[in-house]
This record gives sequence, structure tokens and C-alpha cells, in this order.
Amino acid sequence: MRCPRCQHEDTRVLDTRMPEPQIVKRRRQCSLCGFRFSTVERPVPEEISVLKRSGKVEEFDRQKITASVQCALKKGNRRREEVEALVEEILQNLFAEKSKCLSSEEIGEEVLRCLRRFDRLAYVRYLSVHKTFADLGEFQRKIGEVQSHGDAV
Ligand SMILES: [Zn+2]
Repeated sequence: MRCPRCQHEDTRVLDTRMPEPQIVKRRRQCSLCGFRFSTVERPVPEEISVLKRSGKVEEFDRQKITASVQCALKKGNRRREEVEALVEEILQNLFAEKSKCLSSEEIGEEVLRCLRRFDRLAYVRYLSVHKTFADLGEFQRKIGEVQSHGDAV
């Protein structure tokens, strides 16, 4: 595991915990710069695939979801742990589905559902990036919904 701060390849495990029977959490420290961080190990069903809008099937990629959420949050000053917890919630909800093949729409809807509660600006940003112009009517309706509840921003 590389150090997220200095990219050094050797990090030490300080302790290992199992907060849940399916989850292993390791606290680590970089042996070069001393940076401390945690890694979380959890089972991910291998056979989940994603049906793209184009009809192509791809392997499920957690990183893509994380990247799209981070991209939507770009101007927010969210802590990394907050973002990770949000992605975790999205993934848990997705994996709770019985289906082994998720469409990119289903994934997008779940991301939106969670983002909406988390950060309204990020929600709008994600919506504008991931919705095609075919959905323009729906896009405008959703923006309208956000604006009409726009008191808490
Ligand atoms: Zn380091």
C-alpha cells in the first residue's frame, strides 16, 4: 500500500480491527514521511457488471464512482473521510440490489439520491455532467426541485 501523501511504497500496519464481521480496517503509517491513514477491506461481489448506455457491459469499477463523486464535489471543502463515507453508502445501496448487472442509469440515480442529501451544489453538478440532453426536461425539473427547496444552502 503506497503512502497517499508521498507515494512511498512501504507503509507499516499499526493495528488491525474488524468493526464488522465483513470489514477489516487497518491503521497504517508511512515509514518514510510518517503520514497516518487507514485502509478498509471489504468483500465486493466479483460478478457485478455494469450495462452502459451504449449497450456495452463493463466490470463494476468502484474507482469510477469515487472519481465522479469527487468531481461533483470539487469546489466543496469536504473532508476525505466524509466523501469516503458517502461513496460507501452509495456502494452499499447498490450492492443491496439483487441484480448482478446494474445499468449506468441505476448507478447514476443512486449517486444522485445520496448526493442530494449530502451537497446540493454537487448534486446539480453531477446531474449536469451525467445526464444527456435527451433528459433535458427531467434535468430542468430536478433543478427546479432543488431551487424550490433552496433555503438551506
Ligand atoms: Zn509518506
